Amino acid sequence: MRDDSSLTPQSFAAGMPSGPAPLIDPFQRAISYLRISVTDRCDLRCAYCMSEHMQFLPKRDLLTLEELDRLCGVFIARGVRKLRITGGEPLVRRDIMHLFRRLSRHLDSGALEELTLTTNGTQLTRYADELASLGVRRINVSLDTLDPDKFRDITRRGDLKVVLDGIAAARAAGMKVKINAVALRDLNADEIPDMIAWAHGLGMDMTLIEVMPLGEIEADRTDQFLPLSVARQRLESRYTLTPLPDRTGGPARYVRVEETGGKLGFITPLTHNFCESCNRVRLTCTGQLYMCLGQEDSADLRGVMRASPDDAVLAAAVVEAITRKPKGHDFVIERQRPAAVPRHMSVTGG
Ligand code: SAM
Ligand code: SF4
Repeated sequence: MRDDSSLTPQSFAAGMPSGPAPLIDPFQRAISYLRISVTDRCDLRCAYCMSEHMQFLPKRDLLTLEELDRLCGVFIARGVRKLRITGGEPLVRRDIMHLFRRLSRHLDSGALEELTLTTNGTQLTRYADELASLGVRRINVSLDTLDPDKFRDITRRGDLKVVLDGIAAARAAGMKVKINAVALRDLNADEIPDMIAWAHGLGMDMTLIEVMPLGEIEADRTDQFLPLSVARQRLESRYTLTPLPDRTGGPARYVRVEETGGKLGFITPLTHNFCESCNRVRLTCTGQLYMCLGQEDSADLRGVMRASPDDAVLAAAVVEAITRKPKGHDFVIERQRPAAVPRHMSVTGG
């Protein structure tokens, strides 16, 4: 097998501390971003994400917080500059702040540029101050509606007020909040323009996401799916959308909403291919490294880690996995087809 650890394009290496070679995949994409699902569990059951009666993983299968910290350290040593903690709901994992406390040392040393998280917001009133004090500067909060009844419907149990209080706590703690909303044909399509006005009015960017065929749920996702090309067309009857050049190496494309002055992102895996600039890989809570959200291939880093205390062995397994990063995903969303990828988003980490 080819050892891509020797690939060190000047452009990427410039400005990097000297040390082990950065992670470069076979398509010359530098892997600088790791998303980590710290649990598959959640206090909500969003209808497009999970089934009502989810079978969660036994706790013994999960990486411990120490193992998560060790793995993150290995990625950071190989040039990963951004970590996003996600899940499931990351803030319901027991002692999760212990992991944030450990990881924040990489911010202090300058090895890590950004430590962030994606959350449903239900625990933010409890944790916002400490997160901010540990150097978490920006967070994504997922919120699909501002209507309390619809919120309860979509999440099957949530209390909108708790989330709104959480967002207020995060902002008061000085963190920049971005709102992520999944566009749902019958549930929130009509509300999207008002949600944008609300988010932008509070100085929060917003991103719309297309439903992805990840994991089996009760509903047929074709009934939930709202192509963002359609949502965007509708928005243009109320707003002037000016494309922005911003690229994050991810699937979002951004516009400025002239009337509000705020930024709006579109994540369109099904109507737009976003893979050519992909800079990320994803770690599940059981230590499986997925090189692509939409493909099945993975590397078992938990097995490697538990077999050897030597970080060099673990780093070699990471380097080998990156050589398997595919060029792109092949999602399709078709009526009565099994989900394209059997893993729920909560397992791989959204
Ligand atoms: N629980 C946290 C939250 O909701 O923000 C973090 C994990 S959640 C899996 C991450 C993101 O994935 C959320 O914004 C959620 O709306 C989105 N998501 C979940 N299932 C999805 C699906 N099948 N298609 C598109 N987005 C999905
Ligand atoms: Fe939980 Fe997030 Fe999935 Fe909703 S989207 S069920 S909050 S993991």
